[in-house]
Amino acid sequence: MNWGTPPWKIDFAAEPHPLPARADFAIVGGGFSGLAAAAWLGEVARERSVVLLEASRIGSGASGRTGGLALAEPAEGPLEGVGDVLGGYRETLERVGAAAGLELGGVYEIGRRGGRSDARIVWEDSGTLRVVKEVEGGGVDPGEILTGLARAASRSGVLLFENTRVQAVEFSSPLVVHTSAGSLAAERVLLATNAESAELSGLAECSRAKFTLAVLTEPLSAAKLADLGLGSGKGFYTADLPYLWGRPMRDDGSVMFGSGLVDLANDAELAALDVDGGVAAGLFAKLDQRVRGLHPALANVPFRLRWGGPIRFGNEWQMFFDYHPRSRHVVVLNGLGGDGVSFSVYLGRWAADVLLGRRPLPSWGKIASES
Ligand SMILES: Cc1cc2nc3c(=O)[nH]c(=O)nc-3n(C[C@H](O)[C@H](O)[C@H](O)COP(=O)(O)OP(=O)(O)OC[C@H]3O[C@@H](n4cnc5c(N)ncnc54)[C@H](O)[C@@H]3O)c2cc1C
Repeated sequence: MNWGTPPWKIDFAAEPHPLPARADFAIVGGGFSGLAAAAWLGEVARERSVVLLEASRIGSGASGRTGGLALAEPAEGPLEGVGDVLGGYRETLERVGAAAGLELGGVYEIGRRGGRSDARIVWEDSGTLRVVKEVEGGGVDPGEILTGLARAASRSGVLLFENTRVQAVEFSSPLVVHTSAGSLAAERVLLATNAESAELSGLAECSRAKFTLAVLTEPLSAAKLADLGLGSGKGFYTADLPYLWGRPMRDDGSVMFGSGLVDLANDAELAALDVDGGVAAGLFAKLDQRVRGLHPALANVPFRLRWGGPIRFGNEWQMFFDYHPRSRHVVVLNGLGGDGVSFSVYLGRWAADVLLGRRPLPSWGKIASES
């Protein structure tokens, strides 16, 4: 597997422990969703035992490889009764002590129709892209958020296990979680495995996994960023197709751009994916060419980094937040697609509250039974 290298660092390594024989809660997946749930359980239910099981390293899935645009609404439109996602995102990170450096100063929605006449973004990309509106949100440093959440969980007594893949869950009482490092009994389980392990989560028939791509330019001068309409430091995403998103990096003026989806039939295809070859390499070549064609300031821009990461979508592009089809003691949070930066943390906390019996599931997010 070679998924390329994103520009930030995750400064956390789980301390080695023997796997306990039992835990009140087992969280599967060490991305934003699983970590937020674990850190929240550590915050509000410190007397309960919590184990987090991550197949690889913390943040090795989409969360450590994301574009990092935190937004208030998913691309598919608002979700009924979801509440204030960005407010809850910030509050959750602040409560657990993982909000360092969080600045949400707004994001440009750009489009090929109906752009603002005063807009400074004027890019050519199958039509002229201009700012359509500014929405709430902002770019976050995924490395800092992951590091903060993992440290918060660990500080509050959660036992985190890296390189520990969950192979199966026995739907007995208590549940038995079989992992590559042994088995543990758990009263409640959260499955937050995103693109991988669809069968474990009961999502094999109603969702699909993709691999999506990002590139980072070499740093641009302040004058070039201003020419591009990115002098404010705000990120952007297109409201219409072909899709494009990105953001200038706060520290050095390099600009991230992302687009493109590689279809994945199963976990083995994801594990074998190589950004330097095959379909992914072809899509990177197209993305490079597309970015260089947006504006004269980008015409010869060199690219410093290329990477990608896995995401899961519901067949109807829906998110999943439901009990597992085989047990009300197992909650599944998945299918956040390309909208998971804020939603993962917001819904991860909500999932923890569902495990604690403090809050019901939402009306949406149901998993169709695969009988
Ligand atoms: C290139 C890219 C750009 C993106 N840009 C944006 C953006 O700008 N804005 C936005 O809102 N969203 C964006 N997204 C989507 C967002 O990053 C994801 O929706 C979000 O990170 C999902 O978090 P998660 O915790 O649910 O999943 P992940 O971070 O993928 O975590 C799941 C974890 O589960 C682990 N796992 C899987 N199976 C098992 C198992 N059997 N046992 C144990 N562990 C297991 C995996 O190793 C992984 O670490 C982007 C994604 C990518 C890839």
